[in-house]
Amino acid sequence: MIRKPIFAANWKMNKGASETEDFTKSLISKIQSENFPCEIVIAPPFTSLSKLAEILHNAASGQNAHAIQIAAQNCSQFDSGAYTGEISVMMLREFFVHYVILGHSERRAIFGETDAMINAKIKKAREANLKPIFCIGETLAEREAGNLESVLRTQVTDGLAGISEKDMLEIVIAYEPVWAIGTGVTATSQQAQDAHQFVRSLISELYGKDVAGKIRIQYGGSVKPNNAAELMACPDIDGALIGGAALEAQSFFDIVSTGSAASV
Ligand code: PEP
Repeated sequence: MIRKPIFAANWKMNKGASETEDFTKSLISKIQSENFPCEIVIAPPFTSLSKLAEILHNAASGQNAHAIQIAAQNCSQFDSGAYTGEISVMMLREFFVHYVILGHSERRAIFGETDAMINAKIKKAREANLKPIFCIGETLAEREAGNLESVLRTQVTDGLAGISEKDMLEIVIAYEPVWAIGTGVTATSQQAQDAHQFVRSLISELYGKDVAGKIRIQYGGSVKPNNAAELMACPDIDGALIGGAALEAQSFFDIVSTGSAASV
């Protein structure tokens, strides 16, 4: 396996501190005796970061708690100052955050984030040594109009403008077809593989073959325990970004377990 698969739970606006504690303790107890060849990441809401960090820290002497990394679901493109409601990358660092999800389709569609804003956030995240999980993906209308590749090309090229090769190696891309997010409709493994292969070819154009071969590209969009293995068996799919099915520790664990076993 050249690329270590990465499975990330995106809780969106769900789970306060006590639910975070219950979920995390339950997940730790399930992975205790396992040695999955993958990274496991949890992205709680900002207000639950502290509880997640505390539980992981307290459990760190037990096996495998250290295998769980913390992600934020967003960050500001600014350092500090008069930006009401925003959270800076340095604030995230105080909670032992390693990853930050950027460019999620909900941020693009509901909160108006543009490729330029996402690009600025990726740069800011890298300045603080956070690893972006950079989300891209087409709507159903864009796919049906035959624009899949042009949409992905624009998102990738503009989102990564000015990012160095060194920083690129610290970025995870999440291909998430918008029509598959939270809908229960998953891309077929062929659709997903084709899109991932295309994204990898774009990275190769921009950064060369070597970098493209090292970059991890997660699939996201209605991943469940019963479809994870088929998707993860695709050669260009390196893990998953999971929303709904990551709200239950057992179901997230099952995806990690079957998905990492199937990863090639
Ligand atoms: C997501 O929000 O990134 C996602 C993939 O959600 P779901 O798994 O619920 O489709």
